[in-house]
Amino acid sequence: MPIDQNAIDGLRNRPVGPQSLFIDGAWATAASGARLDVISPIDGGTFATIADGGATDVDRAVAAARRAFDAGKWSRAAPAERKKVMHRIADLIETHALELAVLGVRDNGTEISMALKAEPGSAAGTFRYYAEALDKVYGEIAPTPPNVLGLVHREPVGVVAAIVPWNFPMMIGAWKVAPALAAGNSVVLKPAEAASLTLLRLAALCAEAGLPDGVLNVVTGKGSVAGEALGLHMDVDVLAFTGSGFVGRKLLEYSARSNLKRVYLELGGKSPNIVFADAPDLDQAAKVSAFGIFRNSGQVCVAGSRLLVEESIHDEFAAKVAAIAAKMKVGDPLDLATEAGAVSSAEQLEKDLDFVRRAESEGGAIKIGGRRILAETGGFYMAPTVVTGVEPSMHLAREEVFGPVLGVMRFADEADAVRLANSTVYGLASAVWTANLSKAHRMIRAIRAGVVHVNTYGGADMTVPLGGVGQSGNGHDKSMHALDKYTDLKTAWIQM
Ligand code: NAD
Repeated sequence: MPIDQNAIDGLRNRPVGPQSLFIDGAWATAASGARLDVISPIDGGTFATIADGGATDVDRAVAAARRAFDAGKWSRAAPAERKKVMHRIADLIETHALELAVLGVRDNGTEISMALKAEPGSAAGTFRYYAEALDKVYGEIAPTPPNVLGLVHREPVGVVAAIVPWNFPMMIGAWKVAPALAAGNSVVLKPAEAASLTLLRLAALCAEAGLPDGVLNVVTGKGSVAGEALGLHMDVDVLAFTGSGFVGRKLLEYSARSNLKRVYLELGGKSPNIVFADAPDLDQAAKVSAFGIFRNSGQVCVAGSRLLVEESIHDEFAAKVAAIAAKMKVGDPLDLATEAGAVSSAEQLEKDLDFVRRAESEGGAIKIGGRRILAETGGFYMAPTVVTGVEPSMHLAREEVFGPVLGVMRFADEADAVRLANSTVYGLASAVWTANLSKAHRMIRAIRAGVVHVNTYGGADMTVPLGGVGQSGNGHDKSMHALDKYTDLKTAWIQM
């Protein structure tokens, strides 16, 4: 699709569209009547409101999802029928891609160049992938003795609750909703308070595509209220979550306190990006490393937030990355030329700045950035920040910032690189830059992470799973493996 700045500008102030709950195929106000303001990080202004859903609304949504599941219009539809609807959903997302991308950017501040690909672009691709996948998943015939027929059926789990974060809501929402629907489940989706609007539009597009009432429900509202009610609900079978470890822990507790629902957690990271002196092209490595942390102002779960550089090239490489960071175009996320948009909220900006202050007080050196910029816009912008002299004990090395702050550390040799890379409770993404194939393979095996990139950072598509180890979580989004989360195995043992 050709991207046109005039078309984007024409959508800047467009009326926002649905701002209610979506339950059983209809728009609904919260039982309490309460609403939440939606603040745009572009200028700090309120441009919409969303329904502040509570436990009663969650009950209604889960009941609608269960009724739809039991009625079987979707759960027992022929796979070919489900496939048609899923493709229509993808078509509609593509038709409305620009409008959806602009709406999402107004909501969460991601630069439009990235939002177009990562939000509607990726969401449409995800619906297509699972549309195509759903009639290619077979059951099994077990190698039983000849007087027995052992069948292993793969069945939908029932009602799936999906709770998603404010970064890339359409992409991550689709990563959960599309495989869950493909497998025949009903879904209750809870978007983040700070990024609900595109997912409400997605619900409307799903209905337009012919998804039966009650199969996809969206409850907006506070995590501590609507999210908690979903987590504690006795009739939710699977809870699929992307967000912080702090909330992930609560969800495990909710499950234990309620019906032992299965909980899949895709959490944060502190991903190491490891540059050896024999990297094939240091200029390219510096550019990709800078973009691997500063795009979307660092609000990317897989961001390469710890840059580990071999001693002999440390100063030269850190200077290269800082020079690229200094030139990055940060600002209006609806400008196609912008390379890093806004930080999602005033609170997140303050949190990011606090990490920089603490890094400095713990002995780090701010090479570049470290401050708020463009405050006159009323929006929340931060200069890409490079901190050198980072040690494993510092907060910046241990905790996820989720902002445009890169901590640079030096290492002596391969063993030292592995030691530093793995000195974290997280294990989401990572990268290794080296021209030595054997070293690359050794590092792939040694690094504790869900993803190891080699001579690049951040590449991915739907064919490969994304998930973490350690405190980065326990589930996988994307690829055929995601279907495991939304299906149960049932054994039939038939005596002949
Ligand atoms: P968050 O954990 O604050 O919120 C995520 C969701 O949980 C939101 O919908 C929120 O409303 C809800 N929530 C909050 N409190 C809740 C509660 N008590 N019970 C139930 N739900 C509750 O995370 P965030 O700030 O929206 O997102 C940023 C985090 O997400 C970062 O840690 C980031 O690394 C992580 N993330 C991970 C991935 C991945 O694939 N692993 C992808 C994107 C983001």
